[in-house]
Amino acid sequence: MSETWDAIVVGGSAAGLSAALLLGRALRRVLVIDDGQPRNRFAAHMHGVLGWEGESPADLLRRAREDVAHYDVTIRTGRVTTVAADEQSVTVTLDDGETATGRALVVATGLTDVMPDLPGFAPRWGTGVLHCPYCHGWEVRGKRLGVLAMSPMSLHQSQLIRQWSSDLTVFAGGIGGDAGIDIDPATRARLRSRGVRIVEEPVVEILGDGDAISGVRLADGQVVEVDALFAGPRARPNDEFLAALDLDRADNPVGSFIAVDEFGKTSHPLVYAVGNVINPALTVPMSIGSAAMTGGMVNMSLVTREFDSAAADPQ
Ligand SMILES: Cc1cc2nc3c(=O)[nH]c(=O)nc-3n(C[C@H](O)[C@H](O)[C@H](O)COP(=O)(O)OP(=O)(O)OC[C@H]3O[C@@H](n4cnc5c(N)ncnc54)[C@H](O)[C@@H]3O)c2cc1C
Repeated sequence: MSETWDAIVVGGSAAGLSAALLLGRALRRVLVIDDGQPRNRFAAHMHGVLGWEGESPADLLRRAREDVAHYDVTIRTGRVTTVAADEQSVTVTLDDGETATGRALVVATGLTDVMPDLPGFAPRWGTGVLHCPYCHGWEVRGKRLGVLAMSPMSLHQSQLIRQWSSDLTVFAGGIGGDAGIDIDPATRARLRSRGVRIVEEPVVEILGDGDAISGVRLADGQVVEVDALFAGPRARPNDEFLAALDLDRADNPVGSFIAVDEFGKTSHPLVYAVGNVINPALTVPMSIGSAAMTGGMVNMSLVTREFDSAAADPQ
């Protein structure tokens, strides 16, 4: 890894491999560093991914790795722990101490869904406990659905989930001893106008058999039967290794994320970011699409630098 790469991509899943594919096809030497923990690894099937409907996320990544292998793209297993950059290059350090230097950096490290301390939740994440109705709503349409309110955003999520079932319960009383969500009278009336039930008692356990869930136990001992539960746990972007760059950030209702322009460029001219690390709402096809555009922009920035340098020192 001692050579200087045209681009280093940190994160080799949907977004990272899409950017790498575009760069590889632009005759760029690309290093992808990935530690193999894609966000959707808990789900056996993907949905809403045109051409890959119902397929396994692992199969898509296997195929994507085959795709980039046609070009000058090297994939290295490892975890990047720090990044240093100046105006010409970016150097990443891996957890084994090895370093690599590139002329541009694409950050595609996704995010971590922070599991709440609620018995039965984490083991069913991606099976009975779901995050996105566009990804998994069809499979549970018309069933007894619940929304575990974990932030004020959950009230929007509740209205959305009502599209997939008229049998919907919102658990707004919090988890264990945590405070619940305040629902103002207008929102309460709005939810009830379409038959959405609101439970104010705190939730203490998700019940079920294996991956499937059968109900939610409340603090008062009552059990509310549901077939699937939607939840929006805290999303923590996997960007701590970039701390030394002090990149600009932008706050949104679910947290603080690296700020990028419409082409994925951060406040550092050599550093780009794509996929869930900058936007938790991006699905697999959205991550692939936006990262493809960013891959093209990274190549364009390299082209521009090459012309700038040649024009400044003509032969
Ligand atoms: C349970 C679940 C089910 C989902 N189902 C669907 C679905 O059906 N359809 C759909 O379209 N979307 C689905 N999604 C959303 C999907 O997971 C994301 O859209 C997608 O993973 C975003 O791709 P990404 O490349 O940005 O991040 P990720 O896929 O999370 O990839 C990030 C990669 O970076 C690596 N990485 C992180 N930090 C470092 C580091 N420091 N050094 C090296 N490597 C690092 C990780 O190991 C990982 O391989 C689901 C999400 C969840 C949670």
